Amino acid sequence: MKRWLCIGLCACLFLLSGCASAKPLSRDTFALDTTCSVTIYDGGDETLLDECVRLIAAREALWSRTKDDSDIARLNAADGAPVTVDEATASLISTAIALAGQTNGAFDVTALALTQQWEQAEKSGVLPRDEELAAALTAVGVQHIGVSGSTVTLRNGVTLDLGAIAKGQIGDDVAALLKERGCTSAIIELGGNVVAVGEKPNGDPFRVGIADPRNPNEMIATVAVRDCAVVTSGSYERGFTVAGKRYSHILDPNTGKPVDNDLLSVTILCASSTTADALSTACFVMGFDRAKVLVDSLDGVEAVFVKTGGETVATAGVTLV
Ligand code: AMP
Ligand code: MG
Repeated sequence: MKRWLCIGLCACLFLLSGCASAKPLSRDTFALDTTCSVTIYDGGDETLLDECVRLIAAREALWSRTKDDSDIARLNAADGAPVTVDEATASLISTAIALAGQTNGAFDVTALALTQQWEQAEKSGVLPRDEELAAALTAVGVQHIGVSGSTVTLRNGVTLDLGAIAKGQIGDDVAALLKERGCTSAIIELGGNVVAVGEKPNGDPFRVGIADPRNPNEMIATVAVRDCAVVTSGSYERGFTVAGKRYSHILDPNTGKPVDNDLLSVTILCASSTTADALSTACFVMGFDRAKVLVDSLDGVEAVFVKTGGETVATAGVTLV
């Protein structure tokens, strides 16, 4: 089915150990091409869960690239004409442009032209030729996006795919809603994205497991977090299979090719799940050395890298349990 929002690593993060509160309230929903859940441990009721589910659905309706009337589908069909979008869409696109700059283009919401080449390759069983990738690369680059208020213009044949950041933003939006309504302890899961709101009702941190990319049903590490997003990118659950060979669904916007480096997965921990989502994708593209330099340069951002040999490297501020 549609690839716009990664199913990603649905199975990759597991919430561990029960919470002190007697009766957590939980709600599952299917959106963003993945399983989502919101669990309230303190300060909320079923009505608030209803609101969360409505918010997730409303954001999906704006940011899916496969729903015909979404802001993103309308932009991609506009053939360069200006399109009036929801304020939240314009704001997320502006954030995505800034994150492309911060990651030196490793995270790029205009990579759709490349994704389509690889989707086509999967269908035909024939790898894209270098000339085809070079042609697709001419329609890649956030410098071709114009944002003015709520009007967005895509120039130069560029198209958008918010699949590497939308779940992150939705996680932040749901967390903000929960807090606004007085919730002090909750967990939001959107596929492989986890957002911890506050801490467990007994004052302990939440524990979030990181899947072993070589065996996603097993955990390779567990982190303890309060008020923090934990977002993983890797290519062990999704990808393109062309002529029997598996390729990553995360593409290097410099080469047009699927990522194939010294990383199996990258988990980013930081206050903003939007930032964590974009950075986990970018770091996966960059490879360990460059990604570690980037993470070390950013205040309040931590990472757990799983390298191809299975070695796990966590940055200094990660609390492993
Ligand atoms: P994530 O699982 O958050 O790393 O996002 C992966 C999804 O983002 C892919 O399935 C594509 O839809 C899209 N994508 C692929 N490569 C990139 C990239 N370099 N930058 C931004 N989005 C990308
Ligand atoms: Mg991402």
